[in-house]
Amino acid sequence: MSDCLFCRIVRGEIPSKKVYEDEHVFAFHDINPIAPVHFLIIPKAHVPSLYECESGHEPALGRMLALAGRLAREQGATDGFRTIINTGRVGRQEVYHVHLHIVGGPDVLPGMLKR
Ligand code: AMP
Ligand code: ZN
Repeated sequence: MSDCLFCRIVRGEIPSKKVYEDEHVFAFHDINPIAPVHFLIIPKAHVPSLYECESGHEPALGRMLALAGRLAREQGATDGFRTIINTGRVGRQEVYHVHLHIVGGPDVLPGMLKR
């Protein structure tokens, strides 16, 4: 059994503020939010990053995206939000269990990239 932080959250061994759960995915509020709406959608099965994803992960990855809009709206991001998946060192990934950030709220997001 994985001792990964997010696997432990899925199993309920570490408390989280749950947003949603089904057979493929689990969603919960980010512990250190960067915006009024900030939660994470993760596959229940452990996969470290997008580098390790392959066709077997498509049901969970598809579910994560297919749920994003509905859950964002339910959480109060009714006028748009940003989806972020950080991958690896350059992507500044901190937790090595794939997670989709949903970040929104009223007019809080800067432009995507500095040029
Ligand atoms: P990333 O840089 O994409 O790997 O981001 C990892 C995210 O996980 C950060 O936004 C953290 O605030 C969040 N995080 C870390 N530990 C927890 C936890 N126990 N519960 C909820 N979110 C967490
Ligand atoms: Zn994990």
